[in-house]
Amino acid sequence: MSTNLNMPISKILPRHLERWALVYLRQSTAQQLVRNQESTRLQYALRDRALALGWEANRIEVIDDDLGRSGISAEGRPGFQRLVAEVGLDHVGIIVGLEMSRFARSCRDWHQLLEICALFGTLIADLDGVYDPADHNDRLLLGLKGTISEAELYLVKRRLLDGRLAKAQRGELGKSIPIGYHRRPSGEVIKDPDEQARAIVETIFEQFEQLGTTTGVMRYLKEHGLRMPVRERSGPQMGELAWQRPVRMTLTAMLKNPMYSGAYVYGRRAVDPRLKTPGRPGTGIRLVPQEKWKVLLPGRFPAYITWEQYQRNQELMFANRPQHTGTARQGEAMLVGLIFCGRCGRRMRPAYGERRFQYLCVQAKSVWLDPLCQSLTGAVLDAEIERQVLEALKPAALEVSLAVAADLEAKRAKEERLWGQKLERAKYESERAQRHYYAVEPENRLVARTLEGNWEEKLQALRQMEEEYHRHRAQAPVGLTPGERERIQTLAEDIPGLWHAPQTTWAHRKEIVRQLIDRVTVAVVGESERVQVVTSWAGGHETRTEIVRPVRNLNQLSYLNAMLDRVQALREAGESSRTIAQKLNEEHWRPAKRRCTFTPEMVRQMLCRRGLTRKGKKRKPVLPDLGPDDWTLEALASELALPLSTIYTWVHRGWVQARKDSKRPSRWIIHAEASDLEQLRILRATRPQQRNAIRQASGKTGGA
Ligand SMILES: [Zn+2]
Repeated sequence: MSTNLNMPISKILPRHLERWALVYLRQSTAQQLVRNQESTRLQYALRDRALALGWEANRIEVIDDDLGRSGISAEGRPGFQRLVAEVGLDHVGIIVGLEMSRFARSCRDWHQLLEICALFGTLIADLDGVYDPADHNDRLLLGLKGTISEAELYLVKRRLLDGRLAKAQRGELGKSIPIGYHRRPSGEVIKDPDEQARAIVETIFEQFEQLGTTTGVMRYLKEHGLRMPVRERSGPQMGELAWQRPVRMTLTAMLKNPMYSGAYVYGRRAVDPRLKTPGRPGTGIRLVPQEKWKVLLPGRFPAYITWEQYQRNQELMFANRPQHTGTARQGEAMLVGLIFCGRCGRRMRPAYGERRFQYLCVQAKSVWLDPLCQSLTGAVLDAEIERQVLEALKPAALEVSLAVAADLEAKRAKEERLWGQKLERAKYESERAQRHYYAVEPENRLVARTLEGNWEEKLQALRQMEEEYHRHRAQAPVGLTPGERERIQTLAEDIPGLWHAPQTTWAHRKEIVRQLIDRVTVAVVGESERVQVVTSWAGGHETRTEIVRPVRNLNQLSYLNAMLDRVQALREAGESSRTIAQKLNEEHWRPAKRRCTFTPEMVRQMLCRRGLTRKGKKRKPVLPDLGPDDWTLEALASELALPLSTIYTWVHRGWVQARKDSKRPSRWIIHAEASDLEQLRILRATRPQQRNAIRQASGKTGGA
């Protein structure tokens, strides 16, 4: 580094040396980090460069948070962000880096850094020199370096992509091998050597040809207990077959993959930057329409289907895609994206019907065709969350929150006072050290040197404390002014009115809910009407409640027995069905469906369950009109000692003379005289499988 000592050091002034020297290290990927150790060593040597430029060892800080992080932009690079923040707090005299313009890989980040350095008088240094971004000529040079660096990056990428494309055009660019194929060590791609694996792939395409839908194929695989032959891609089992349960996404990917028709394709996927989530690799990838594929070479691989069949499959899948019917919806799900399943932890989503909407946990169903995890009517949950939100925004509740905020502010003020005292003390100590230094006789050099060192030390401590104080201040939340507080309170009084106002759209309500609530977790208790709800508020507080959802029938109600007991007690006290219905409504019992109230008819049905009629007595069976030699099915069955189902079969086959009773519940009546009975016995006897029964029965019925 000594060669750099003759650089124009004149740019470095005491005001720079007073502040920190930050050494910024970065190396794009972990791989580069391993391979390029020379560069890493060189980067750490930058510390020596800062020393050589005149900074003291304890005023140099190395920022290496970004080692091993790739960075096209500053997002996801905490080190670079810390650098910018420290410059903004006026703590930095110089930034030292290996190739300065590579600090920031996009021109936007680079110019932002230059701008802020110019503002706070921070210098920038690399192996070539020291630059002052506030100086016009230096700024020009630095800007140019940034542009060149970006162009370099672009060229490297371009060359890489061109190389890939050329290789792809020859059909030589390695592709990932889907289910049903295998790559030999020579690189040749063949059909999977496992016969069963090949058979499954063939079955999938055959079934799609026949059934025409992915769901159909899924169901077929599931019903026949067939599993997908997946070759492990890594780990000790690499290359081995693993039989996995069918997953819809894999199936769809197979049906869309042109490789099964033997074609080599390049450029089937592209990243759409608008859909990309920053910091999440692999997002934003979309399939490119066939006419835009860069390379399409038919007949490159052994095929499972023909190209024509592949095309047909694509058309079918396109036609099958879910379509939005555009029917008007009743209401709107307020908790989209916030609601999670308390049973499996997955996100739940709304499903809109004609009259109502539901929240469903469908992932297991859509991925594996498993049964639906759980569902509940959306309106009841939305209503409960609405109630909680309005409760939280009530003036009284807000008062508490504001009081907490005021407490925090008071604590903050106390901290501020402590800081003031600490700073005061440090200042006093450094001034005292200064006074001591000046008081000593100049001839007493040894003492003077010690005192100078002491003074220097105290000054350093003071500076460090001041910097820490700045950081502390920068992180402090801004307190509310009395005016703001008043405005919040006035608004709070209006909130319920505002919430219900016709001008307030569902989008607004959703927005408010999202400001207050992080997530809502719901779990239906068994199949019952009870739903446990956990509301997680922004800030970490949780509210646990239980709500009641409408269910399909009475049997699902957890309180069914208690309710029937009550109905029975009322009936036994001599109440009419109408009065019982009224009482149930007054006592806030709920029927299965939420919107309705109890009616006399519903009470009668409940009484039926307990076998009770009016006045608390067991219902007498209605006897059919029986003529001479008429039999009910039960009577005949017992007469002939046959199962009831056999007599039914005979009625339906016309082997007996039967009619329906004129009185409800319209039972079958069979007319059989003594001679008919004899014939029926013979009929029974002629059926070989009944012979044993005949002998037993004839012994019993012989005397009749
Ligand atoms: Zn679930």
